[in-house]
Amino acid sequence: MASSFVDSHPMGKIQRYSKDTESRVEVNCPQIVKQYNAHMGGVDLADMLIALYRSNFKTKRWYMTMFSQSLDICVNNAWLLHRRDHADPKDRLPLKKFRIQIVSELLHKNRTRVTVSQENDPPKKIITPAAPRPTDAVRYDNNGHLPMFVSYGRCKYCKNGYTNITCSKCILRLCLVSKRNCFYNYHVK
Ligand SMILES: [Zn+2]
Ligand SMILES: [Zn+2]
Repeated sequence: MASSFVDSHPMGKIQRYSKDTESRVEVNCPQIVKQYNAHMGGVDLADMLIALYRSNFKTKRWYMTMFSQSLDICVNNAWLLHRRDHADPKDRLPLKKFRIQIVSELLHKNRTRVTVSQENDPPKKIITPAAPRPTDAVRYDNNGHLPMFVSYGRCKYCKNGYTNITCSKCILRLCLVSKRNCFYNYHVK
């Protein structure tokens, strides 16, 4: 057994039948076993959730299996917090969508790094085949949203604006003129 929460202490006592004395006797019970017996329902639930969308990890190094298991536990615990924070079931993401959203947000982070490394290259026309909008976690992360010049087109924030400025991370055209700063407004709550 392994836990980040308890170890064997404080040692508890439990009653067990003894063949020698033909009666119940007190034996020591490590705290981690006591906790497991009390909360095994939660452990079963965690195992069930992991089995639903287990990370596909093929490895010969045994300890990587523990790493992937820990990663899945982290994701599932985050999802349980997400559910707790959204009282209205309509706002809750199913576990599968939640996992996909984490992946897409991590991919967005990479996009920032790529963009920054191309800083000195001439701005390229960004191809956006009906580009999906960034998730709120990316939109408001205040990290790596840089203005870039692209072809002229409709602003994705206001109703009638046209602009040739896009956000390098969100890949959305946003006005940035003295009358209207959709670029700023889009990125703050
Ligand atoms: Zn605008
Ligand atoms: Zn942005």
